Amino acid sequence: MKLLLSGSFDPGEEAEWRAAFAAALPEAELLSPAEARACANEVQAAIVANPAPGSLQGLPRLKLIQSLWAGVDRLLADPTLPAEVPLARMVDPAMNAAMAETALWAVLALHRGFFTYARQQQAGLWQPLPQRRADEVPVLVLGQGQMGRTAAARIAQQGYPVAGWRRDGSALAPLLARAQIIINLLPLTADTRGLLNAGFFAALPRGAGVVNLARGAHVVDEELLAALASGQVGHAVLDVFHTEPLPAPHPYWQHPQVTLLPHAAAATDPRSAAQVAAANVRAALAGQPLANLVERKRGY
Ligand code: NAP
Repeated sequence: MKLLLSGSFDPGEEAEWRAAFAAALPEAELLSPAEARACANEVQAAIVANPAPGSLQGLPRLKLIQSLWAGVDRLLADPTLPAEVPLARMVDPAMNAAMAETALWAVLALHRGFFTYARQQQAGLWQPLPQRRADEVPVLVLGQGQMGRTAAARIAQQGYPVAGWRRDGSALAPLLARAQIIINLLPLTADTRGLLNAGFFAALPRGAGVVNLARGAHVVDEELLAALASGQVGHAVLDVFHTEPLPAPHPYWQHPQVTLLPHAAAATDPRSAAQVAAANVRAALAGQPLANLVERKRGY
């Protein structure tokens, strides 16, 4: 079985994926884009992670494009992506669990003022803050898919009142008005790009916490910075940015009301993700139903 492996990997990352696939799908030969071009008629599926533009073209027997990432916004923006080949994204319970841990950490730290205490330590300030109960801190999770549902359940287990928002047409403004903490776990689509903007922040109760674990382009940065400056948003936890790595001069780096992570909320674990991808590749080759298919028209 010949498969294309195309991606822009960090040093050492490709070797890790190759080892994980050798264990999960030992019958497969993973070809580089150049190797795949040399035997284009034999390549049956593509495993991709930010593939080089054009690398999926000219493969007439391709039955599946399997993304190693959960978010497919960059992939869908590639005009050379073959339109007729089924596209699946990564859905891995191990990644959902990691995301839920990050979301829970952010909620606990925002609720109990742990980010403020970290700042106070830097300033040598001994200053206990008023303590609220978890059931007094409503949390809103934007997106109720794989990640959003898992995070919401984990946070609710700790006693927080949790609401969720999905694409069922329910109005966002009344949910925002009740939320002390919002967690963004939406996919980046034409509808959700720039959703976290001045109007969104104004609809929150004053001093709310904003946690963005999805994509940088969900946030209008200047409008978040203005909301932080006015105190409308009390603190932001940001894992994802318009440009990654976040450029050195960006105001988020030194901002006292911003806690940032280097796109580390939920990394894909090659050990479990290769098993998920292998099952889908085997299904594609056997003509069986595929899991985790992307609906290209809706963008996720
Ligand atoms: P998913 O299973 O596809 O869930 C998406 C959810 O968003 C669904 O509940 C969907 O509503 C909702 N949604 C989509 N468009 C909407 C809209 N216009 N209005 C309201 N709700 C909308 O996705 P997932 O696996 O949970 O992943 C979510 C995102 O997390 C990914 O796209 C990726 O960008 C991000 N991510 C980040 C990291 C990281 O390390 N920071 C890691 C992995 C993923 P319906 O239920 O009605 O369809």
